[in-house]
Amino acid sequence: ILARGWDVCRRNGLLILSVLSVTVGCLLGFFLRTRHLSPQEISYFQFPGELLMRMLKMLILPLVVSSLMSGLASLDAKTSSRLGILTVAYYLWTTFVAVIVGIVMVSIIHPGGAAQKETTGQSGKPIMSSADPLLDLIRNMFPANLVEATFKQYRTKTTPVVKSPKAASEEAPAARSLIYGVQEENGSRVQNFALDLTPPPEVVYKSEPGTSDGMNVLGIVIFSATMGIMLGRMGDSGAPLVSFCQCLNESVMKIVAVAVWYFPFGIVFLIAGKILEMDNPTMVGKKLGFYAVTVVCGLVVHGLFILPLLYFFITKKNPVVFIRGVLQALLIALATSSSSATLPITFKCLLENNHIDRRIARFVLPVGATINMDGTALYEAVAAIFIAQVNNYELDFGQIITISITATAASIGAAGIPQAGLVTMVIVLTSVGLPTDDITLITAVDWALDRFRTMINVLGDALAAGIMAHVCRKDFAQDTGTEKLLPCET
Ligand code: ASP
Repeated sequence: ILARGWDVCRRNGLLILSVLSVTVGCLLGFFLRTRHLSPQEISYFQFPGELLMRMLKMLILPLVVSSLMSGLASLDAKTSSRLGILTVAYYLWTTFVAVIVGIVMVSIIHPGGAAQKETTGQSGKPIMSSADPLLDLIRNMFPANLVEATFKQYRTKTTPVVKSPKAASEEAPAARSLIYGVQEENGSRVQNFALDLTPPPEVVYKSEPGTSDGMNVLGIVIFSATMGIMLGRMGDSGAPLVSFCQCLNESVMKIVAVAVWYFPFGIVFLIAGKILEMDNPTMVGKKLGFYAVTVVCGLVVHGLFILPLLYFFITKKNPVVFIRGVLQALLIALATSSSSATLPITFKCLLENNHIDRRIARFVLPVGATINMDGTALYEAVAAIFIAQVNNYELDFGQIITISITATAASIGAAGIPQAGLVTMVIVLTSVGLPTDDITLITAVDWALDRFRTMINVLGDALAAGIMAHVCRKDFAQDTGTEKLLPCET
C-alpha cells in the first residue's frame, strides 16, 4: 500500500502541492488578517505571488503567436477551416447556453428582491453608449501597431465635461445653496452668509477612443491565426518560419515545465495576499450575498453538469477523468483570475495528462482564452438582471433576449485578465437601459466571483479541445501536414 501511495504522490506531486497551496493560502490569509498588517507589509508579502503572475504573463505572447502560427500552418486548408468553423460554433453555442443557465438561476433565486410590475423604464445616467465597447472590440481585432498591441489595448474613455454655468439672469433666480464664510476684519472675526444664485453647472459625458494598459490578445490572435493560414498555403517557401514557430512553441512549453514547480509557492502568497487586501466580508449585504450565491450556483450547474454531460454525449468518454487531467490549470485560474495567464498550464495539462493532439490544442486553446468565456457570460447575465431587480425594473421578454445576446457578445469582448467582465458589462446594461453606475453595487464581491468564473472559462476551453479532438479525429488521422517533417518536432 505504501509503495502504491508513494507512486500516486510521485505522479500527482504537482497537483497535490497545488491543492495544498490553495488551502494554505486561504488559512494563512485569514490568520494574517488578525495581525492587522500595514499596506506596505501586505505589498511585500504579496511579492512572491506577483512573481508568479509575471512569469505567466511573460509566456502568453510567445505561446499564443507560436501555437497559432505553427498550429494552423501545419494543417491543410480543409482541415483548418473545418476545425475553425466547428470550434467557433461550439464556443458561441456553449456561451449562449451559459447565459441561459444564468438567466434561469437569477429568475429562480431572485437575489435582488421582488420587482414591482408597474415600474419600468430607465433611471440613472448611462455614461457610455453600448456602441463604444463594441467598437473597441472591433478596433482590438485590427491593431494598428503590432508592437503596441503587446502591451496596450483600445478602450474608449468617457470623461465628464463641465459646461460653464449659464448667466444667472437667464435662469429663474433660485437659491442653490447657502454660502458661509468666516473673515478677519479689523482684528475681529466676522461671519458672512450669502445665497449662491448660480444655476448648477451642466455636466455632459464625452467618449473618446483611447488605449489602456494590458495586452491586446484578441488582435494578436487574429494576426497570428491569419499568418498561420497564409503560411500553410505557402507550402515549402513558408516552412522555415513554420519550423521556427514550432521550435518556439516547444521551448516555451519547456520553460512552463520548469516554472510550474514555483507555482504552488506563488499560489500561497497570491491567495493569502488577496485575502489580506479584501474588505471586511461581513460588510457584504444580504442581497449581494444572494447575488454571489446565484452566480456560483449557475457556474456549478454549467461547469459541473452541462459541459461535462456535453463532453460525455459527444465523446462517450468519462468527463471526470478529463477534468482531473486539467485540475492544475483550474487551480491556477482560481489563483490568478486570468484565463490568458493560465494558458501555458492549460496547454501542459491537455498535452501531458489528456493526450490531446497538439495541433488541436494549438488552435482551440488560444482562441478559447480570447473569445470563449462561459463563466463571464453567465455572470454578466446574472449581474444585469440582479441590477434590474434591485432597481425594481420589470424586464420584458424582448429585454431578456437582448441581455442574452449582449452578454454573449460582452464575454467575447472581455479580455482574459482579472475583472475584465466588469468592464464589458456596460454593453449589457446599456442595451436594456439599466444604469451603468450600478456596476459599483457588485464590485465588492467581484474579486471572488472573478476567480470562479475564470475557472469555468478555462474548463470550457479545455473541454472544447477534448470535444474537437474527438470530432475531428478522422481529419487529423489523415492530415499529417508538414508537422512530422520538421526537425524540432521529431
Ligand atoms: N477574469 C476572467 C478571465 O480571465 C475574465 C472576467 O470575467 O473578468 O477569464
